[in-house]
Amino acid sequence: MTNKIFRSIIVTSMVVLITSLFVASSFLYSHFNKSQVIRLKEELSIVAASVEEFGDDYFDNFNSSYFRLTLVAPDGVVLYDSQTDAKQMENHLDREEIAEALETGKGSSNRYSSTLGNRTYYEAVLLKNGNVLRLSVNQITVGVLIFAMLPAVLSIILVALLLAMVLANNMAKSVVKPLNEMDIENLIENDNYEELAPMINKINRQHHKIAKQMQELNQKTDEFRQITDAMNEGLVLLNKEGIVISINAAAKELFEVDDSAVGRDFLSIERSIRMSQAIKKALEGKHSELREERKGNEYQFIFNRIESEGNTKGIVILSFDITEKAFAERNRREFTANVSHELKTPLQSIIGSAELLEKDLVKPEDTKRFIDNIKKEATRLVSLINDIIDLSQLDENNALEQEVVDLYEVTKEVVEALALMAQQKEVKIEVDGEPCEMKGMRRYLYEIIYNLCDNAIRYSESGSKVKINLKKKNGSIVLAVADEGIGIAPEHQSRIFERFYRVDKSHSKETGGKGLGLAIVKNAVAYHGGTIRIDSRIGKGTTITVIF
Ligand code: ADP
Repeated sequence: MTNKIFRSIIVTSMVVLITSLFVASSFLYSHFNKSQVIRLKEELSIVAASVEEFGDDYFDNFNSSYFRLTLVAPDGVVLYDSQTDAKQMENHLDREEIAEALETGKGSSNRYSSTLGNRTYYEAVLLKNGNVLRLSVNQITVGVLIFAMLPAVLSIILVALLLAMVLANNMAKSVVKPLNEMDIENLIENDNYEELAPMINKINRQHHKIAKQMQELNQKTDEFRQITDAMNEGLVLLNKEGIVISINAAAKELFEVDDSAVGRDFLSIERSIRMSQAIKKALEGKHSELREERKGNEYQFIFNRIESEGNTKGIVILSFDITEKAFAERNRREFTANVSHELKTPLQSIIGSAELLEKDLVKPEDTKRFIDNIKKEATRLVSLINDIIDLSQLDENNALEQEVVDLYEVTKEVVEALALMAQQKEVKIEVDGEPCEMKGMRRYLYEIIYNLCDNAIRYSESGSKVKINLKKKNGSIVLAVADEGIGIAPEHQSRIFERFYRVDKSHSKETGGKGLGLAIVKNAVAYHGGTIRIDSRIGKGTTITVIF
């Protein structure tokens, strides 16, 4: 701005100066011409008086380079010329000033000579002897005038230019200074230039508008951050060059980075080739997904292109912890395979026995054994199917109708139901407890106690004891089933609650185990909001404690 003001002042000064010089020169030029004519007339009257007095002798002494003196006879013949040989000159009778002087005694004219390239003023007077005396002078040309004035003009221009520069510099600074000192934050309080008031008001309004918009933007950014940081899923936004624009808390933890990740190339944070290929694919507009393991957990990454009006703006990466889902999927697959296997074995045995009976291939004395086998396997199948139904109902986790159940009573029922089995295995069951009422599903509570006791008897040696203890403790009900059986090795203890998991498959099958008992216990206890603890030592026995 300072430069612009400076330049404007200099240009204006120069234009004014040059115009003034031009006007002054024109005025001078016209004034000079008029003076030239006046001087010509005065000079002619002096010369005429001298010629009248001294006669032709005057011409011998006439010596002027400025004026030209010519004497013309009444017939137009040139008798004398101060600059040219008179004999060489043509007849001058037709010259306007000569003709006028012959007629009126005085004549004047001015002519432009294209050969000489200038104008000449002529003044003529009729002498007493009838001759005409003519004095002429060349009009001074503009070029000559300017040339004569040039040093003065240049000095004026130089001085004016210097003065204009100093003044312009000071003026530009004094104009700009208040603008530079303006308080941008309080524009309205700046009253240096009242001409700027409308502009300042407008800027002030816009300033407020921008401040408000910035505040809203910051608020929205904060909200966005709060929402995305509260997400369990990781969220990363990349621009189309792959630079991180935004990353939420979950993603920071997953990729082990902090806030400094923003502004970095995502592939410098995450160097997996699969990841870079997925980003490339998403940039091409194809939805891409991949599963990868991170810190022992399984994650699903989803890549989507962000576009606006058909142009790619960036990529959004979402990550989900699918460890549980993947585990459940694996479990379901294994469960289906196990169920098929468990169903097939007894069914094949039933079909085999039935076929032998059908074809009369069984000796009469063995018929009963075969029928018993069919019945045993069929009962096992029904029991297995019941267990599967129980499990699937527990998986549904539906809120089923609950009732007040006395666990002590249920325990006694269970002991009664298992009495024959205990007797056959020569295992003694001892119950120690008190009435313990709780709200729950009677059938599942029965299953819990039944399966724990069933296992305790099943995996015990003859002559050993199974102790069932039921008591209230600190507002909870504690049920402990302890045996003196084979025990469970530590590496199996966390797995025995999985479906169809058996420590010793053949032993479990031999003893009629289906591998679902503890899975039902686990789910039924969880359904009632309880917890399970296991203490077991190989060869010493096992105690499983359930706390409701
Ligand atoms: P199963 O029908 O095979 O008994 P469970 O789910 O009830 O299936 O138990 C899983 C496995 O845990 C059993 O196969 C057995 O190896 C082990 N187990 C359960 N209870 C006991 C126990 N009291 N003593 C020793 N091993 C046990």
